[in-house]
Amino acid sequence: MFCASCGTLLRLQKTPYGKWMSCPNGHTQPTLQQEQPSFTEKNQHQAKTVQVADGENILAVHDHVCKRCGYGKAELIEISAAYSDEDNNYRMKCGKCGFTERLEGKIK
Ligand SMILES: [Zn+2]
Ligand SMILES: [Zn+2]
Repeated sequence: MFCASCGTLLRLQKTPYGKWMSCPNGHTQPTLQQEQPSFTEKNQHQAKTVQVADGENILAVHDHVCKRCGYGKAELIEISAAYSDEDNNYRMKCGKCGFTERLEGKIK
C-alpha cells in the first residue's frame, strides 16, 4: 500500500487502539476514516472501565451498611425463585467493595 497523497510506501503503525497502515510523512489515508467508528467505540469502553475503577457503583442506591467495609450504600439484587422451590431471595451488594449479603425476610 502506498500513501494516497505522496506515494510513499506505508508503514504499519501500532497503537493502543489498533494497527493500521500510515504514511511516514503523516498524511491521512482515506481508508483510515472508515475505521473511525470502532475507535470511538473503544474510547467509550475505556471510559466505562474508568468509572468502575473509581469505585462508585451507580446501582448502589439502597441504604445498607456493608459488614465488611462499612460503606453505606448497596445494590439490591433479586434472585428469582423460578430456579428453586424457595421464595425470591434478595441480596445487598456493597457499592464499594462488592461484598454481597443475603437478606432474610427483610423485604417482601
Ligand atoms: Zn504521504
Ligand atoms: Zn463493602
